[in-house]
Amino acid sequence: MVIAVLTYFLKPEYFDFIVKPSARQVYERELKKTPQDLEQWKSLKQLALKDSITTSESYSEFVQTRIESPFAAGYWVNVAQGESVFATIAIDTIKPSWILEAYDIQGKLIQTARVTDSSLALQIINDKHQRLQIVLQSFLEKRDSTQLKIYKQPLLDFPLPGKSNNAIKSFWGVARDGGRRSHEGNDIFADRGHPVVAAADGRISAVRDRGLGGKQIWLQDALTSSSHYYAHLDSQLVTTGQRVSRGDTIGLVGNTGNARTTASHLHFGIYKSGGAVDPKPYIWQIPIPENSTEMPFKSRGVGFGLSAFMHQQPSASSVSLRTIYEDTLQIIGNSNDWYHVRTADSLAGFAHKSVVRLIEINSSTH
Ligand SMILES: [Zn+2]
Repeated sequence: MVIAVLTYFLKPEYFDFIVKPSARQVYERELKKTPQDLEQWKSLKQLALKDSITTSESYSEFVQTRIESPFAAGYWVNVAQGESVFATIAIDTIKPSWILEAYDIQGKLIQTARVTDSSLALQIINDKHQRLQIVLQSFLEKRDSTQLKIYKQPLLDFPLPGKSNNAIKSFWGVARDGGRRSHEGNDIFADRGHPVVAAADGRISAVRDRGLGGKQIWLQDALTSSSHYYAHLDSQLVTTGQRVSRGDTIGLVGNTGNARTTASHLHFGIYKSGGAVDPKPYIWQIPIPENSTEMPFKSRGVGFGLSAFMHQQPSASSVSLRTIYEDTLQIIGNSNDWYHVRTADSLAGFAHKSVVRLIEINSSTH
C-alpha cells in the first residue's frame, strides 16, 4: 500500500487506468515541470472560454498554431432539443497535439474528443435546448495546422426517404381549427404510396385507424425517450409489438383522417413524458461542412480600409461588432474568406480578408 501511494506520486501515469484523467489533465501533468508554461496554458484556456464566437449550424475553419502564438479558441453552439453536436479536427497521428473539448454553459466539461480514423472527434447526443461551448487548444510546443468542423445533425432519420426539409410545408405551432388548437407536428408532403420509414430503432406501440390522424402508427424510441406519431397513412405495414430498425418501411403516405380533403402527407409528431415537442430539429437535415480553404497566414494582422469591421459570423450580413481600423489583431484561423481574429482586449470575431493586412510578428529586421 505504501509502495502504491509512493508510486502514485512518483508516476501518476501508472494509475491512469483507474483515475481516467482527461487529455487536458495528462498534458497539464507534463507541463508541471515548467510552471510558466503551465500558467500560459491555463490562461489560454480561460481566454478560449471567454470567446464570443457563436457558430452557425454548419461551420468549418482552417486553424494554424505558431510557437509564438499557440492556438486557443472557443465556439458557442446553440443546440435545440433533438439535435446532436459534432466537432472534429483532421489529424494524421494517433498522438494529436490538440485538445478538443465541449463545456456546458456553467463551464463544466462534458466531453473530450477521442481519436478516430483520421480525426479527433466529439459527438454530443443532445436531447434538450442548451448552449454548449467547444474549446480547441493546441499543445504549446507544437506547430501544426488542421481543419476544424463544428456542426449539428438531427438525432433521427428523415421519415420519408428521398425527401428533405423542403417537403415540410407545415410546422409546429401553426393554428388549427380556426385557432382552437395548435399544430403539434410537422406535415411532410409526398405522393400517395411514398414509403414512411422508422426514424429510429424502436418498438411499435400502437397501430390504429381513428380520429384526426386516421391510419396511424406509434413507435417507442429509446434513444430520445419519446413516442413517434406517424399519421394520415394510406397503409400500415407493421403490427403492434413489432421491433423495427431505423430506416425500415413501416407504412405508406396517404390522406386518411382529417387530411382526407388535403394533398397526401405524413403528419409526424414526437411525444415525450411532458407532452408533444417540436419534431423539426429531430429531423431537419443539416449539411456536413466542407473543409475551409487555406488562406495565407501570419499570427498578426492589422485592420485597414473604411469597411474594417469585425463581424460576429463569417458573413457580411451578420452582426457587426465594432470597427477594427488600425487595430492589431491576433489571427486565429480562417473560415473561407474570413479571418477569425481576436482584438487586443480579447474580443473575438471575423474580419473579411480584404480588410486585414498580415504582418510579421518579429519586426527586428527593418
Ligand atoms: Zn399535421
